[in-house]
Amino acid sequence: MGVRGNRTITGQSGFTEPVLMTGVDDLLHKAEENGYYNNDSLDIERMVSYVSSTNADEPIVLEYVPMDAATSGSLTYNNGIWTIRVNEKHNRRRQRFTVAHELGHYMMHRNKLQSFTDEIFFRSENKNDLEYKANEFASCLLMPEDRLRRAIASGVKNLGQLAERFEVSSPAMKIRVLKLGFKLKQNE
Ligand SMILES: [Zn+2]
Repeated sequence: MGVRGNRTITGQSGFTEPVLMTGVDDLLHKAEENGYYNNDSLDIERMVSYVSSTNADEPIVLEYVPMDAATSGSLTYNNGIWTIRVNEKHNRRRQRFTVAHELGHYMMHRNKLQSFTDEIFFRSENKNDLEYKANEFASCLLMPEDRLRRAIASGVKNLGQLAERFEVSSPAMKIRVLKLGFKLKQNE
Protein backbone atom coordinates (compact mmCIF):
# COMPACT_ATOMS: atom_id res chain seq x y z
CA MET A 1 0.00 0.00 0.00
CA GLY A 2 1.26 3.48 -0.73
CA VAL A 3 0.13 7.01 -1.21
CA ARG A 4 0.38 8.68 -4.59
CA GLY A 5 -1.69 10.61 -7.06
CA ASN A 6 -2.94 14.11 -6.85
CA ARG A 7 -5.84 13.97 -4.47
CA THR A 8 -6.03 16.07 -1.35
CA ILE A 9 -6.13 13.81 1.65
CA THR A 10 -8.25 14.76 4.61
CA GLY A 11 -6.10 15.05 7.71
CA GLN A 12 -6.24 12.03 9.97
CA SER A 13 -7.61 14.11 12.83
CA GLY A 14 -10.60 15.22 10.81
CA PHE A 15 -11.45 11.78 9.54
CA THR A 16 -14.45 9.96 10.87
CA GLU A 17 -14.71 6.27 10.09
CA PRO A 18 -18.16 5.51 8.66
CA VAL A 19 -20.09 2.92 10.59
CA LEU A 20 -19.30 -0.27 8.74
CA MET A 21 -22.58 -2.11 9.01
CA THR A 22 -24.63 0.95 8.12
CA GLY A 23 -22.72 1.32 4.86
CA VAL A 24 -23.13 -2.34 3.97
CA ASP A 25 -26.77 -2.42 5.02
CA ASP A 26 -27.60 0.51 2.77
CA LEU A 27 -26.02 -1.26 -0.19
CA LEU A 28 -27.79 -4.52 0.62
CA HIS A 29 -31.11 -2.68 0.71
CA LYS A 30 -30.39 -1.22 -2.72
CA ALA A 31 -29.39 -4.62 -4.04
CA GLU A 32 -32.74 -6.08 -2.96
CA GLU A 33 -34.66 -3.06 -4.25
CA ASN A 34 -32.91 -2.99 -7.63
CA GLY A 35 -32.82 -6.75 -8.11
CA TYR A 36 -29.04 -7.22 -8.16
CA TYR A 37 -29.30 -10.92 -7.28
CA ASN A 38 -29.27 -14.06 -9.32
CA ASN A 39 -30.61 -16.39 -6.64
CA ASP A 40 -28.14 -15.58 -3.83
CA SER A 41 -25.32 -14.36 -6.03
CA LEU A 42 -24.95 -10.58 -5.93
CA ASP A 43 -24.18 -8.91 -9.25
CA ILE A 44 -21.09 -7.14 -7.93
CA GLU A 45 -20.46 -5.21 -11.16
CA ARG A 46 -23.91 -3.64 -11.01
CA MET A 47 -23.31 -2.81 -7.36
CA VAL A 48 -20.09 -0.99 -8.27
CA SER A 49 -21.94 0.92 -11.01
CA TYR A 50 -24.60 1.89 -8.52
CA VAL A 51 -22.10 3.15 -5.94
CA SER A 52 -20.27 5.03 -8.69
CA SER A 53 -23.50 6.67 -9.88
CA THR A 54 -24.27 7.92 -6.37
CA ASN A 55 -20.80 9.51 -6.11
CA ALA A 56 -20.71 11.35 -9.43
CA ASP A 57 -17.74 13.51 -8.41
CA GLU A 58 -15.65 10.44 -7.57
CA PRO A 59 -16.69 7.79 -10.11
CA ILE A 60 -15.37 4.23 -10.09
CA VAL A 61 -14.03 2.37 -13.12
CA LEU A 62 -13.67 -1.41 -12.95
CA GLU A 63 -10.98 -3.17 -14.99
CA TYR A 64 -9.85 -6.78 -15.31
CA VAL A 65 -6.14 -6.88 -16.09
CA PRO A 66 -3.33 -9.43 -15.85
CA MET A 67 -1.39 -9.17 -12.59
CA ASP A 68 1.21 -11.34 -10.92
CA ALA A 69 -0.33 -14.39 -9.28
CA ALA A 70 0.03 -13.13 -5.69
CA THR A 71 -1.84 -9.90 -6.36
CA SER A 72 -5.62 -9.92 -6.18
CA GLY A 73 -6.32 -6.34 -7.13
CA SER A 74 -6.00 -2.68 -6.36
CA LEU A 75 -7.87 0.56 -5.93
CA THR A 76 -6.17 3.72 -7.09
CA TYR A 77 -7.13 7.35 -7.55
CA ASN A 78 -6.01 9.35 -10.55
CA ASN A 79 -7.36 12.46 -12.28
CA GLY A 80 -10.72 12.41 -10.55
CA ILE A 81 -11.39 8.73 -11.09
CA TRP A 82 -11.06 5.74 -8.78
CA THR A 83 -10.04 2.58 -10.60
CA ILE A 84 -10.60 -0.91 -9.24
CA ARG A 85 -8.28 -3.35 -10.98
CA VAL A 86 -8.82 -7.07 -10.61
CA ASN A 87 -6.42 -9.85 -11.57
CA GLU A 88 -7.99 -11.37 -14.70
CA LYS A 89 -6.00 -14.56 -14.12
CA HIS A 90 -7.81 -15.38 -10.88
CA ASN A 91 -10.99 -17.42 -10.81
CA ARG A 92 -14.39 -15.75 -10.83
CA ARG A 93 -15.16 -16.29 -7.16
CA ARG A 94 -11.88 -14.80 -6.05
CA GLN A 95 -12.39 -11.88 -8.41
CA ARG A 96 -15.82 -11.18 -6.97
CA PHE A 97 -14.36 -11.02 -3.47
CA THR A 98 -11.59 -8.73 -4.70
CA VAL A 99 -14.10 -6.32 -6.27
CA ALA A 100 -16.14 -6.28 -3.06
CA HIS A 101 -12.98 -5.76 -0.97
CA GLU A 102 -11.82 -2.83 -3.12
CA LEU A 103 -15.33 -1.38 -3.03
CA GLY A 104 -15.01 -1.54 0.76
CA HIS A 105 -11.79 0.50 0.61
CA TYR A 106 -13.59 3.01 -1.60
CA MET A 107 -16.57 3.29 0.74
CA MET A 108 -14.63 3.42 4.00
CA HIS A 109 -11.06 4.48 3.34
CA ARG A 110 -10.83 6.73 0.31
CA ASN A 111 -10.25 9.76 2.51
CA LYS A 112 -7.26 8.05 4.10
CA LEU A 113 -5.28 6.74 1.13
CA GLN A 114 -5.44 6.96 -2.63
CA SER A 115 -3.76 3.72 -3.49
CA PHE A 116 -4.48 0.24 -2.18
CA THR A 117 -2.85 -2.91 -3.52
CA ASP A 118 -4.04 -6.27 -2.26
CA GLU A 119 -2.38 -9.61 -2.14
CA ILE A 120 -4.25 -12.87 -1.79
CA PHE A 121 -6.68 -12.60 1.07
CA PHE A 122 -6.93 -14.69 4.20
CA ARG A 123 -3.24 -15.40 4.49
CA SER A 124 -2.47 -12.17 6.22
CA GLU A 125 -5.97 -11.36 7.28
CA ASN A 126 -5.04 -9.33 10.32
CA LYS A 127 -2.33 -7.41 8.52
CA ASN A 128 -3.92 -4.17 9.54
CA ASP A 129 -7.18 -2.61 10.44
CA LEU A 130 -8.01 -1.29 6.96
CA GLU A 131 -7.54 -4.71 5.39
CA TYR A 132 -9.53 -6.41 8.11
CA LYS A 133 -12.39 -3.97 7.61
CA ALA A 134 -12.34 -4.28 3.82
CA ASN A 135 -12.56 -8.07 4.20
CA GLU A 136 -15.43 -7.72 6.65
CA PHE A 137 -17.18 -5.40 4.22
CA ALA A 138 -16.76 -7.84 1.34
CA SER A 139 -17.99 -10.76 3.46
CA CYS A 140 -21.11 -8.91 4.57
CA LEU A 141 -21.81 -7.69 1.04
CA LEU A 142 -21.40 -11.01 -0.76
CA MET A 143 -22.81 -13.19 2.03
CA PRO A 144 -25.57 -11.15 3.68
CA GLU A 145 -26.57 -12.58 7.04
CA ASP A 146 -30.29 -12.86 6.31
CA ARG A 147 -29.84 -14.57 2.94
CA LEU A 148 -27.23 -16.91 4.37
CA ARG A 149 -29.40 -17.87 7.35
CA ARG A 150 -32.32 -18.46 4.97
CA ALA A 151 -30.22 -20.68 2.73
CA ILE A 152 -29.01 -22.73 5.70
CA ALA A 153 -32.54 -22.92 7.17
CA SER A 154 -33.82 -24.15 3.80
CA GLY A 155 -31.47 -27.11 4.02
CA VAL A 156 -28.25 -26.07 2.32
CA LYS A 157 -25.80 -27.24 4.96
CA ASN A 158 -22.75 -28.10 2.93
CA LEU A 159 -19.99 -25.48 2.80
CA GLY A 160 -19.25 -26.11 -0.87
CA GLN A 161 -22.91 -25.78 -1.85
CA LEU A 162 -23.25 -22.58 0.12
CA ALA A 163 -20.11 -21.19 -1.50
CA GLU A 164 -21.49 -22.08 -4.94
CA ARG A 165 -24.85 -20.51 -4.19
CA PHE A 166 -23.32 -17.20 -3.10
CA GLU A 167 -20.57 -17.47 -5.72
CA VAL A 168 -17.71 -17.08 -3.25
CA SER A 169 -14.73 -19.28 -2.40
CA SER A 170 -15.13 -22.00 0.20
CA PRO A 171 -12.55 -20.40 2.55
CA ALA A 172 -14.50 -17.12 2.39
CA MET A 173 -17.75 -18.93 3.16
CA LYS A 174 -16.13 -20.85 5.99
CA ILE A 175 -14.97 -17.67 7.71
CA ARG A 176 -18.42 -16.14 7.28
CA VAL A 177 -20.47 -19.03 8.69
CA LEU A 178 -18.11 -19.39 11.67
CA LYS A 179 -18.42 -15.65 12.29
CA LEU A 180 -22.21 -15.99 12.31
CA GLY A 181 -21.91 -18.68 14.96
CA PHE A 182 -22.58 -21.81 12.92
CA LYS A 183 -20.69 -24.98 13.74
CA LEU A 184 -18.98 -26.95 11.00
CA LYS A 185 -18.77 -30.69 10.63
CA GLN A 186 -15.31 -32.03 11.38
CA ASN A 187 -14.36 -32.59 7.76
CA GLU A 188 -15.23 -29.07 6.61
ZN1 LIG B 1 -7.21 -4.17 0.81
